[in-house]
Amino acid sequence: ENLVNEAAILAARRNKLSIGMPEFQEAIERVIAGPERRSRIISDEEKRIIAFHEAGHALVRRMLPKCDPVHKLSIISRGMSLSYTISLPENEHVLVSRSKFEEDLSAMLAGRVAEQLVFDDVTNGAVNDLDRVTKLARAMVTQYGMSARMGPMVFGQRHEMIFLGREIGEQRNYSERVAREIDEEVKRIVQQAYDQARDILTRYSDLRQGIADRLIEVETLESADFEAFFADVPGAPPRSPGAPPAARAKLTEQPRSSAP
Ligand code: ZN
Repeated sequence: ENLVNEAAILAARRNKLSIGMPEFQEAIERVIAGPERRSRIISDEEKRIIAFHEAGHALVRRMLPKCDPVHKLSIISRGMSLSYTISLPENEHVLVSRSKFEEDLSAMLAGRVAEQLVFDDVTNGAVNDLDRVTKLARAMVTQYGMSARMGPMVFGQRHEMIFLGREIGEQRNYSERVAREIDEEVKRIVQQAYDQARDILTRYSDLRQGIADRLIEVETLESADFEAFFADVPGAPPRSPGAPPAARAKLTEQPRSSAP
């Protein structure tokens, strides 16, 4: 309802008598990421950093077969985000495998990795990426039983207020030694994902540069423009043509503020 309402407002603003696909497309982005904020002042240097960060996410996502395809990437600020990549799952999935989680972790870390590789420095722009990476890696070890070292067990007793849908605390039911092992496993999983992202962004540094340059120039790449970079790239997993229903669009760059 919210989406149709946004689309209707856009159509009215454009003096159209009916709502078309362009209005729905724009409405999807407004609903999941907030309105465009072209007025936000961003220096050329910041724009370059944001472009490489976003190109990093998109390139790693594209080279890993289990990651959801890139639908759109943009360095135009929207809502609280400085930039964003929207991905779309090709199929609806309820179950997620360890190997998919590992690839997702690489894609989430890729923005930070690209900054490090290109500028030999890092920014606080990756704060939400890192937060999601840490939570997912920890859940893989302590809740999903995906660490061979820790075994198929759940660590920690979670107290949830079901009616509020949120956790109110966690009770530790394991030893200090196990706590240390969990930390080591989480660290190992994150490091492995980081290394994978670094390998991809190093091997395909020409593509990294090409996508970032194009983003700086045009600010937004739709999936077809993005796919054009991969026409003759050996090692790029095939992507089925045709856009899946946009209703499943996911914002992969979570909102982050420009100031801490
Ligand atoms: Zn990011």
